[in-house]
Amino acid sequence: MDTAVASAAVRVAGLVKRFGKREALSGVDLEVAPGEAFGLVGANGAGKTTLLKCMLDFCAFEAGRIEIFGAPSAEARARARLAYVPERFLPPHYLRGREFLELTVRLGGGAYSEDAARALLGELALETESLEQPVRELSKGMTQKLGLAGGFLLARELIVLDEPMSGLDPASRVAVKTVLARLRREGRTLLFTSHVLADVEELCTAIAVLERGRVRFRGAPAELCARYAEPSLERAFLRCVHGE
Ligand code: ATP
Repeated sequence: MDTAVASAAVRVAGLVKRFGKREALSGVDLEVAPGEAFGLVGANGAGKTTLLKCMLDFCAFEAGRIEIFGAPSAEARARARLAYVPERFLPPHYLRGREFLELTVRLGGGAYSEDAARALLGELALETESLEQPVRELSKGMTQKLGLAGGFLLARELIVLDEPMSGLDPASRVAVKTVLARLRREGRTLLFTSHVLADVEELCTAIAVLERGRVRFRGAPAELCARYAEPSLERAFLRCVHGE
């Protein structure tokens, strides 16, 4: 294994995933460098969530290889270095906020710190009263932020998020983006999907544009704009997925 391969946070090579006759991923190659904030973008049904699910060993794939910090994705040691928060995050409804966070951290092999949890909830603009509330009483956005808090408290090197900002109010979006930017400054690697290209442009050092299971572009957001001579990432993205 050469040094470049060994040092990648995530390396996907020739990934093919089919659901019956439908090919969701058609030979995806992708590399995320350590410390990078990487945005996976693409239209509905492009294959973003499927790619994350393959990476996390939630589903098998037909061909290709995925490595996380050099370890094959099917091995538990690959996932031991990442935290993941899904798109539709639903914690066990009978837990209180604190119980959920504590359980998440302990199951992840860490030590729960009430101070760290409170500080993080403050950063995420989530009232600390939610620690006492049963999760079923929290709003959708509050539940989403609790899930993100759990993922961030795990203190893993790689943070994988599926549409982390969806369903959040403007203040919460800013709060989550501020925490993500801090985590990146602290050296964590971020990999997330988003439909909000302004968020991606703000946070990401690199993006991949997925279109019908294929990577159409991989590079810095500014490079995609430059390729199509478009000042806006949104317009450049549209031209990229429409094959212009
Ligand atoms: P969105 O932005 O809407 O979340 P996405 O890019 O995450 O979309 P995926 O959820 O990865 O898209 O879906 C990619 C393709 O795979 C779609 O055609 C979808 O219908 C199909 N697909 C995903 N999961 C399944 C499944 N469990 N069974 C059958 N087909 C599936």
